[in-house]
Amino acid sequence: MDTKIISAKSDKDLLPAVKVLQQGGLVAMPTETVYGLAANALDASAVNKIFKAKGRPADNPLIIHIGDINQLYPLVKEVSPLAEKLIDKFWPGPLTLIFDASPIVPKVVSAGLSTVAIRFPNHPIAQKLINNSGLVLAAPSANTSGKPSPTTARRVLEDLDGKIEIIVDGGQVEVGLESTVVDVTGDAPLILRPGKITKEMLEDITGKVDLDPALKELDNINYTPRAPGMKYSHYAPNAHVYIVEGSVENVARTIENLTLKAQSNKQKVGIMATDQTINNYTKGDMIVSLGSDQDLESIAYSLFETLRQFDDNNIDIVYTESFSNQGIGNAIMNRLTKAASYNIINAGP
Ligand code: AMP
Ligand code: MG
Repeated sequence: MDTKIISAKSDKDLLPAVKVLQQGGLVAMPTETVYGLAANALDASAVNKIFKAKGRPADNPLIIHIGDINQLYPLVKEVSPLAEKLIDKFWPGPLTLIFDASPIVPKVVSAGLSTVAIRFPNHPIAQKLINNSGLVLAAPSANTSGKPSPTTARRVLEDLDGKIEIIVDGGQVEVGLESTVVDVTGDAPLILRPGKITKEMLEDITGKVDLDPALKELDNINYTPRAPGMKYSHYAPNAHVYIVEGSVENVARTIENLTLKAQSNKQKVGIMATDQTINNYTKGDMIVSLGSDQDLESIAYSLFETLRQFDDNNIDIVYTESFSNQGIGNAIMNRLTKAASYNIINAGP
């Protein structure tokens, strides 16, 4: 199959993509979080193509994207007052809610669970594709399963060239990390995956908010995450990633020493730091600042693209500083620990 990249300056430009979706094909689209790989969510054979193109395990359910709040009600059994409060505040936006599924949701979408994940994205192109096609769209991140999620059309093409009909190029996304996933089937919201909408932001609206216990422990082998997708090694470049924790001085010294050692074994080393610390490093083959430690959103935005750039440069090992766990930092560290397969080196306080 020939994969076409189209721009989306007008509604007319989107017509071929709308047609592909209506005919049960696959279209990659920009959303405010990351690029999504979309298909008609109510067509099981179209949804199956998503799993095949991504190499996604069949037990990892998909998020259904809606473009109008009225599309929600037929997909779910009930919208509780709790869910309504979150919808009023955060939709459209980077928040996915888990509801009890209605019978019209194909089993392949929910991976056999009785619940379904729904999001109303706040991106004009995603909204137009949904509304102009008249469909609801299942859309996981548009990467090969296990790789860092794509934040540009070029990165989608890198993974899915020849496997999908169309990529709609909407430039670089805004957030750079996937949505916060929150289960609203219980008495209090339960966060299954951290994202830009933080625990504190949810608490401001609903009071008490719980975290899936699997998210509390960094090394969470004792808990099975409630979001099936969180149990896989994920977001990983080809390079082996190590997180180095501790005081700024000890982290810099440890990373410099580890870098020299790896380079003496003919390995190419990448280093991830911040604007504040990048000058502490001189030895790496590729030394990158993700952004200012005073602006965690800029770090979130650069993370996946930077991990892919290490692969562009055939880096073998990445040593990264760890970042603040506050606010969106919680989502950054969640993705980074998975990219590092929980390899954490303590450099000392
Ligand atoms: P992605 O679409 O690649 O952003 O991944 C979607 C995330 O939401 C994965 O971690 C899924 O396991 C999770 N998810 C989707 N549907 C459900 C559900 N019904 N219950 C729990 N987690 C879900
Ligand atoms: Mg994904």
